This record gives sequence, structure tokens and C-alpha cells, in this order.
Amino acid sequence: MDVRIRPNIIGMDLAELTTRLEGMGEPRYRAKQVFDWIYDKAVYDFSAMVNLPAALRDKLRSEMRVSLPQVVQTQNAADGTSKYLLQLDDGQHVECVIIPDMPRMTACLSSQVGCAVGCAFCATGQSGFARNLQPGEIIGQLLVSQQIRGERLTNVVMMGMGEPLANYDNVMAALRLMNDRAAIAMGARRFTISTVGLVPGIKRLTGEKLQVNLAVSLHAPNDHLRNQLVPINRKYPIAMLMETCKEYIAAVGRRVTFEYVLLRNVNDQAAHAHQLAQLVRGMLCHINLIPVNPVSEKGFSRPSEQGTAEFARIVRGYGVEVTVRKEKGTGIDAACGQLRARRMR
Ligand code: SAH
Ligand code: SF4
Repeated sequence: MDVRIRPNIIGMDLAELTTRLEGMGEPRYRAKQVFDWIYDKAVYDFSAMVNLPAALRDKLRSEMRVSLPQVVQTQNAADGTSKYLLQLDDGQHVECVIIPDMPRMTACLSSQVGCAVGCAFCATGQSGFARNLQPGEIIGQLLVSQQIRGERLTNVVMMGMGEPLANYDNVMAALRLMNDRAAIAMGARRFTISTVGLVPGIKRLTGEKLQVNLAVSLHAPNDHLRNQLVPINRKYPIAMLMETCKEYIAAVGRRVTFEYVLLRNVNDQAAHAHQLAQLVRGMLCHINLIPVNPVSEKGFSRPSEQGTAEFARIVRGYGVEVTVRKEKGTGIDAACGQLRARRMR
């Protein structure tokens, strides 16, 4: 059977693997044994799964596969951050970034190849959209990073390439596998979904009542400016987005993070800070200011450190919690999408 047609066990949940193995005449507990090898022992080769009968190992080899994305380029920064360019089965590329922030080890994973939203300052957005990632390709980024680094990752943020809520079902399937005790066994609170603000997706997520963290990429405090920076704002304008976030907070009881990429002379003025604070004041939320990572051809730059601090001070003055993102991975094209964009040029 062609390698790509054989189903990949990475991405299947335990119930699906159990059904498949039962279909092959195997007892139910075999699926759990295979899961233990993969998720507990990080063994991805059937021939090394020594508690399985030899005949079953042969059968698995010919009918299924355990395949991870292939690392085609690595960048390591002095602070321990690593960025990997990964090649998928069909030759497409995505990026993932590993960020140590002790005691956490956070994986920043991609949800799509490219992105259709096209935010003005984002390298991924400029490269267009190719396709959604499968659950196994999302989990695979985590497993391959753990394999390279030789350590367990503790947290996952969906802040790599793509818009996770535009690939809702596959991202949720990956999340359930990460959450499942039989698989990665990572608590939902260690998982963050970052969205550009797809209102229907946030509403769906609200209905799940999961304890995941929600980050919403706001980037502008008024529709006029946000329409220019985040084109999807024309469809889901700020008032509608804020209403949806309030419903989310009320239903789930968790704080929302608003991400705000600071662009010098574009959205970083004192008036913007006042407007931003007034917009979110009183909500159970937190603002994360992110000085932009300049993407060469776009011409955006970040404010000075004093400018950033002053912006934060104004927002804080309204009693709103603000952090400035610590710079990680300096010198390794840390803005997601940059590595792939460079390779494709
Ligand atoms: N599509 C989702 C998640 C991926 S982008 C979203 O937009 O939220 C993750 C975060 O990185 C977003 O907040 C995004 O605005 C930010 N980002 C994109 N390009 C950036 C750049 N050049 N510099 C700094 N942050 C950037
Ligand atoms: Fe897509 Fe997020 Fe980049 Fe916007 S910032 S283009 S939504 S990946």
C-alpha cells in the first residue's frame, strides 16, 4: 500500500484505533498498548513495540503508519528558543517554535498551511492560504519537537501559522488528544487558542465550556484602523467581537487575553491607548502588548521601549491588566511565517 494511503495513527483517538484493531481481529487492549508506546515512550517504530506479537507488528507495518512531520530546517536562539521548519507528507511546510519560560516549555504550533485572513503585518498572512492541517499534523509538531529537544513540553499555544478557528474541527480533535490521559495528558488550561476574532468560532468554543485559554488578536481600538490592519474586521467588527468575548467570559468564567501588536506611528499613540482601555475596561481580561517583529517587505516597525512603556502605563491607568511580551528568539525570524516565507522566495 502507498505510504500516504496507510492511515497515520498519530491523530487518531483511542476509540478509533481500538475499532480499527478490532477490525483486524485484535483484542481491545492492543490499542492502549500502541498508545503507550507512542505517547508515553515516544517510540514511533512498530518493530520496537516489543509487547505486541510479531505477527501484529508486521500487520501494522503493512496497513498503518506512525508518521511525524520531517524537520527540514532548525534555528536555535541563545535564549533556548528553537524554531523548526517542518515538511508534511504532501511536501507543504509549516513552522513551530519552542519557547522555554521556566518552569514552562511552550510549543507554538501551526493550525494551517498559510492563512487566508491576510493581516497587514503578518508574514503568514502575506503568503496566502494552502490548506488546513489534520489533527495528526498538529499533534505531530508537538511530538517531533519533544523528540528533538529530548524533553516534555508543558504548554501549547496555537499562535503559529494559520487561524485555528478557521480549522475548528481539526484543532479541537488535536486538543482532545493532547488532553486525553491515554495520549499526551496535558491539562486544558495549558492550551491557548489565539484567534483573529472569528465570531462564529468563538461562539462555538463558548458552547464547549472547555477550560482552555482564549487569546483574541485585537491590534486596534476602533473599526477604522482595525479594518486596515485586520481585514476580517469588516465582517466581524469590534462591537460584535467584544459582545462575543463577553458572552465567552460569562459562560466559561475565564479571562480573555487581548493581543495588541504595536506598530510605530500606526496604532501606538496615546489616543489609541486611551481608546483601547475604554473598550475593555471592566471586562475579565488582560492585554498583551507585542512590539511587532518587522516582516521585511511590509515596512512596519516597533515603537521605542519608552513608547511601549508609556502605552502600557496609560492602559494600566484605567485599571486594566497589561503585560508586554518578553522578546524570545531574537535573531531567528521569530515572527511566525517568516522562515517559510524565506524558503519559498
Ligand atoms: N491567526 C491567529 C493565530 C496565529 S498569529 C491570530 O491571528 O491570532 C499569532 C499572533 O502573532 C497574533 O496575535 C498575531 O497578530 C501575531 N503576529 C503576527 N505577525 C506578527 C509580527 N510580524 N510581529 C508580532 N506579532 C505578530
Ligand atoms: Fe492569519 Fe493570524 Fe497572521 Fe492574521 S495574524 S494573517 S489571522 S495568522
